[in-house]
This record gives sequence, C-alpha cells and structure tokens, in this order.
Amino acid sequence: MRFKLKAGLVLLLVFVIPFFQSNAIRVQPESKIKNIYIPALCYHRVTPQISSVYDLTPEMLEEQIRLFIGEGYQPITVQQFIKLQKHPEFFPDKPILLTFDDGSKGHYQYVFPLLQKYEIKATFFVYPSVIAEKSDKMITWSELLEMSEAGMDIESHTMSHPFLTKRTEMPDDSEYLKWLDHELKDSKRVIEEHLKTRVTSLAYSYGWHNRVVEEKCVEAGYQAMLTVNWGCNRVDENPYRIKRRVVSNAMSLRQLQKYIASRPLSLEIISPEDSAIIAEVPEVQFRLTNRELNLLDIEVGRNSGEIKPNGDGVFSFHLTSLYSGYNMIIVSGYDGQKQLYMESWGFDYSP
Ligand SMILES: [Zn+2]
Repeated sequence: MRFKLKAGLVLLLVFVIPFFQSNAIRVQPESKIKNIYIPALCYHRVTPQISSVYDLTPEMLEEQIRLFIGEGYQPITVQQFIKLQKHPEFFPDKPILLTFDDGSKGHYQYVFPLLQKYEIKATFFVYPSVIAEKSDKMITWSELLEMSEAGMDIESHTMSHPFLTKRTEMPDDSEYLKWLDHELKDSKRVIEEHLKTRVTSLAYSYGWHNRVVEEKCVEAGYQAMLTVNWGCNRVDENPYRIKRRVVSNAMSLRQLQKYIASRPLSLEIISPEDSAIIAEVPEVQFRLTNRELNLLDIEVGRNSGEIKPNGDGVFSFHLTSLYSGYNMIIVSGYDGQKQLYMESWGFDYSP
C-alpha cells in the first residue's frame, strides 16, 4: 500500500504533471474510470500534394486537431497510455491517441510544428530500413531525435515494414521465427540506439498480426502493440491489441467526430477467436453481453450485411469469400439515443 502510494506520487511528479501542465491534475474517482474511452487514430503522409486516400494536407490535419481540442480531447502518447493503464486514476477525461506511421518527411515538416503550436504530443511509428542521415522524402535520424527531445513518442513499426504473418515464401518455421525476431527486436534496438530512448510499443505493419506474431512481440520486450482494428479502447484494454483507425481524406469531420465518440460493444466472441490462425472460412459468431442492440452491421472484407441475434442471443454471420491474410471483423450499431457502438477483431486466414 505504502509502495503503491509512493509509486503513484512518483508517477504524478515525473510523468503526469509534465504532460498535463496546462490542465489541472485530477484523480479520477473509481466510478468515472470505467466510462473513459480512448480513441486512437492512425495517420500516414501529411503533405500539401495529396496523392492517395491516406494522405492529408497540413490544413486537413490542423482542422482535425482543432476539432479534438475543441471537443475537450486530451492527446496522450502510447507511452503515456501504457503507464496510465497501471494508474488509471490519472487518465484525463477524454484521452485520444494520435499516431503517425511510416516516417515520411511531412511528419517533421508539417506535423511536428502543428503539434507544438497546439502544445500536444503524438506517437510516431517508424521503420529503420528507410531512415537515413539525409533524405528529402523520409524523416531522418536527426529530425527524429529533435522530435523525441521535444517529448514526441517515437516507436517501432518493424524493421522493414513487411506482412509479419506471411509465411508462404518461408515454409521453414525456424527460419520464419528468426526473421520475425529480426523485424521485431532489431527495429527496437536500432531506434533505441539512435534516439537514446526506450521503445516500448510496436505498430503492426499493415495491421497484420496473429497470435504467433503477438507472442514474439511480447518476447521481444514490447509492452504494447497497435493494430488497425476499429473501435475505441477501454482503460483496461488488452495492451497487446490496441485498436486504432486509419484516417483517410475521404472521412468528413462529422464522421471522425462520430467515430471518436463511439463506445465499445461488450462482446463474447464465439468464433473466430481474436488473432487466430485459421485454414478454413469461419462462421462469425458472438453474443452481446450487456447491451440490448438487436440489429448490428457487420463487415468482413468483401462480406457485409445486417445481423440479428437468434433465439439464444447469438449473432451469426456467414462468410462467402475471404482475402488470404489478415481479415478484420467490424460490428457496429446504434442505440435509441443514436449513440454509435463499435467493436472489431481479426484473424489470419491461411488456407
Ligand atoms: Zn505502415
């Protein structure tokens, strides 16, 4: 107890206060903690010349940041999230995780100045194979160092951005596991050496993962892994499966606003299990544990539709075709107050 109090005080002094200087520190009462949700967004390139649906102009990003701040969201980094999970009484009321993947130049040129302008922090996931000392297109080590020293969270996005679940060209298990180790451990080590910081989380490249990859990440020393599964995180979310939605420039501010205000659905998954590796097309089955929504939308790759529970309360959805590799299952619905509920999980389909 004494230790816990002491640890809490240390955390407050060294970690929470510096990041929430502008906001009064409050200890959340137990009853409020379970009503705190943490949306996470995943951005890619930020550039004045957009050329893909995942590119945003600096103006688009600024508009979104203004929306988050205007609605009272308080951006936290993934490192902060991991620490706050151990002391949830220090979570802000409306946390949000802003993350930027792949280390393009715009993250230094446009995103970093914007974050400083609004005095907020974000997490950047980079993969060392494309980071050089000098580059016009990609972020450099010295730029990352500057951002890291300014309090930005720089984390791993593997070594070379491969599909981590892919084993077809590596049928030999030990060869695959060795390669996986290199992608996970060496990226962590190289970033730590360059920035003299601790790398504690990894964002799966393309969001592809399964339970083997997950186990290897834990073994490599990661405390958190980020997917691109949809839905807001709970305070006690499994840190190995943090949900995060990829933002596209086709999303309106209204859609974004609805999404970050969505609530997780309480699901009891029957099949397929989260992060499972399966060889046959599964039947999706689950129950809702504490919410009476009788009509849900479901989407699994090319399969989508509306589903209702059967007499036993089981929602069932038949899949007809699947992509080989990681497939995300997204279920969502609205309650009587037009509140959006959403949950997702995924599996690795290896026929
Ligand atoms: Zn990526």
